[in-house]
Amino acid sequence: MTTSAELFAQACRHIPGGVNSPVRAFKGLQRPPVFMERAQGAYLFDVEGKRYVDYVGSWGPMITGHADPEVLGAVRSRLDGGLSFGTPTAIETTMADLICEMIPSIEMVRMVNSGTEATMSAIRLARGVTGRDKIIKFEGNYHGHSDSLLVKAGSGALTHGEPSSPGVPASLAEHTVTLAYNDIDAVEQCFEEIGDQVACIIVEPVAGNMNCIPPQPGFLKSLRRVCDAHDSVLIFDEVMTGFRVAMGGAQAHYGVRPDLTCLGKIVGGGMPVGAFGGSEAIMSNISPLGPIYQAGTLSGNPLAMAAGIALLTKLREPGFHDALAQRVETLCHGLQERADAAGVEMITQRAGGMFGLFFTGQSRVDNFAQATACDADAFRRFFSAMLDEGVYLAPSAYEAGFMSSAHTPEDIQFTLDAAEKAFDAMQR
Ligand code: PLP
Repeated sequence: MTTSAELFAQACRHIPGGVNSPVRAFKGLQRPPVFMERAQGAYLFDVEGKRYVDYVGSWGPMITGHADPEVLGAVRSRLDGGLSFGTPTAIETTMADLICEMIPSIEMVRMVNSGTEATMSAIRLARGVTGRDKIIKFEGNYHGHSDSLLVKAGSGALTHGEPSSPGVPASLAEHTVTLAYNDIDAVEQCFEEIGDQVACIIVEPVAGNMNCIPPQPGFLKSLRRVCDAHDSVLIFDEVMTGFRVAMGGAQAHYGVRPDLTCLGKIVGGGMPVGAFGGSEAIMSNISPLGPIYQAGTLSGNPLAMAAGIALLTKLREPGFHDALAQRVETLCHGLQERADAAGVEMITQRAGGMFGLFFTGQSRVDNFAQATACDADAFRRFFSAMLDEGVYLAPSAYEAGFMSSAHTPEDIQFTLDAAEKAFDAMQR
């Protein structure tokens, strides 16, 4: 039997870092990544046959569990008809209708192939309709890896953005202003100074790429107000939160209507899909209706649409999201109790079907500075002990955890028993 360590060594020969997306590499965790063979329901099975209760869910899409029979069935039923036609297909309209029904702020939607494409295109649209270049994002919010968005500014609200990756031109990065998440004063001050140059604010309405940080009460509503006052576009990046925090996404949960919404992950049911949409007035500016160009050879791919439609349809079962949130609550309470009993300083935060664990003595974490001040070594030891016990958490202290409807009470109990051992081991 080939082990994960052997497969990783082989992968590193021709794949940079052995992975096709960096966070899979277990960097900083002092062990090689686990290579998975297959997945079913709440479980991943590695190449050595070991089972893990999975709280990553392919980074979000697997909200009803892995290898959902209805999603697989929908893909199978399309398979013999061919993989891609490069023409319109009726199933794209079914998908668009479904998204518009589930998320009322979306009247028109364009399908793309990833979350990155969705946010990149939404930014272009916002810049195109406003005729402005500057965009505002928040520190620790991740919106994919397009140049404008791969920027983390230095301190100070109005500092020009610095590229956080070599290869992002400084002349482009300077149009991206980065502010602290949950800091509405900084947003207001920024708009006072350069409001007439701001095309848009893009925000994760629940931040899930610096662990799990829900918005403070009023934060999202304030963003709406500031954008309205300055004719800027408000973009909710719901690639992670869409269909997860609530059926209508974080915008339904918090009662704030953005101008544009970016989707990904769940909308493709595990296939490579993204989408962006908004009112007919704003979306009519997209090519071929309007002058702002956006395109994709495989966009609206029929197999991907079939998977996404099957999954979204399942989420419409009454009570789905309440039950999911209840499971998250049970898990978080159980973890908190066990951490407290072991004397480990840890808190949990959650929103609907997503959650985060912070190794900190603070009572809450609201922004990037606080998230990165948490004890990364404690996370590493907890993660490693949980992995040994058969629980697969996100291999980074800065990623949210995801629950699925396939997680049974027994799976949660299994996780809590593992955590009890892991917390004890951390104190030894
Ligand atoms: N936006 C958010 C909030 C994300 O979490 C991600 C990916 O994790 C993206 C955008 C980028 O999506 P993708 O990896 O599909 O390009």
